[in-house]
Amino acid sequence: MHELSVTQSILEVALAHAQRAGATRILRISLAVGELSGIVGESVQFYFDIISKETMAEGAELVFRHVPARFRCLECGTEYEPGGPDWTCPQCGALRPIAVGGRELLVESIEVE
Ligand SMILES: [Zn+2]
Repeated sequence: MHELSVTQSILEVALAHAQRAGATRILRISLAVGELSGIVGESVQFYFDIISKETMAEGAELVFRHVPARFRCLECGTEYEPGGPDWTCPQCGALRPIAVGGRELLVESIEVE
């Protein structure tokens, strides 16, 4: 399951960071989630609550920041953010986008105690 493995790596990053900081508890983890990453925030929180049990991240709140998709047009090279379901290039009207942003899932910051 995609979200489970993603959630495991979030937990690993958070625990490693908290250990380095000498923390005893993780309160909040802020994440940047790309529109094209296919990640559903509620699922990640659901898995996180399960796998973080008996770690210092138990009970931590996950905060998701939405990162919009960003495309580059293969015809003319223009980079653009698609407006909703219309993915055509605003410059030349072609529909040949490649994703250059919006696939990421990054741990942005961690609040510890
Ligand atoms: Zn174009």
